[in-house]
Amino acid sequence: MKIYIIGIGLIGGSMALDIKKLYPDSIIYGIDNNENHLQEALAMGIVDTGATMDNVTDADFVIVSVPVDVALVVLPKVLDVVADDTIVFEVGSTKMPICLAVANHPKRRNFIATHPIAGTEFSGPSAAINGLYQGKTNIICEVEKTAFKLQEKALQLFAAMGMRIRYMDPKSHDKHIAYVSHLSHISAFMLGKTVINKEKDEQDIFDMAGSGFESTVRLAKSSPAMWTPIFKQNKKQVVKTLEEYISNLSNFKELLEREDYDAIYNEMQSVNKIKEILNGIKAP
Ligand code: NAP
Repeated sequence: MKIYIIGIGLIGGSMALDIKKLYPDSIIYGIDNNENHLQEALAMGIVDTGATMDNVTDADFVIVSVPVDVALVVLPKVLDVVADDTIVFEVGSTKMPICLAVANHPKRRNFIATHPIAGTEFSGPSAAINGLYQGKTNIICEVEKTAFKLQEKALQLFAAMGMRIRYMDPKSHDKHIAYVSHLSHISAFMLGKTVINKEKDEQDIFDMAGSGFESTVRLAKSSPAMWTPIFKQNKKQVVKTLEEYISNLSNFKELLEREDYDAIYNEMQSVNKIKEILNGIKAP
């Protein structure tokens, strides 16, 4: 099996590791415009060899795992040259723009739009993780637009990686993911900013930072190169979530100014149910 991975970073690299383990005879070709990343991926054995876009004509699978703005340019070019029995999937964190970009492509049926809900705040091939996708959800959009036989090929691979599938239309995907992923990143970035700005004056602040701060601000280590195009592509939904979040923050501040501690207690208690919700998500 010939697998081409365009963008051999955290997501593409983790896919490469799983595929090699599941199908040791497969050949993994890495394509990346960052030469250091490609060399790193070769040295780590994540890919078998480097390749170029011209080579994808003999692929069984092409995985497009580049930032979402780059995917809009790369994916149509890949579809232009792939064979009829090649399945191409893209893993970006927004789904409307990419689905629209290839809606009328003659090879649309060779493409399956996915978003594996898995990852970390780190980037590049050194961030790739064995078994990253085990037990994780893979959101698939517009599955009916992919040729049935190619859908089956992709679904077999996702099942072998241990992913469970959730089907969703791209608009709903972008709306829901704005809340659970995009807003969380902005919240972490701005929490980090608030503390960094203060730290300029008060050197001691990081000595006092405990694991609560560290886990809450973790996503602020994420790559701006990856996240700026995500916020750009999902601007409308992200602005809406921010308005709701800012309103909740302002409300909390008002309760504190009014010294309405009963209301504060109740606010927090009502949000405590997040424990059960998250436990439900974690259960197999
Ligand atoms: P990453 O670790 O930064 O890897 C992306 C790789 O693509 C980098 O090596 C990058 O090089 C390279 N690249 C950029 N432009 C390229 C081009 N024109 N041609 C070939 N390679 C190119 O990013 P990632 O975290 O794997 O994310 C990849 C995709 O997965 C994104 O669309 C993201 O939205 C999606 N995703 C991410 C997560 C997550 O938690 N990270 C989760 C689910 C989905 P440079 O570093 O030099 O730009």
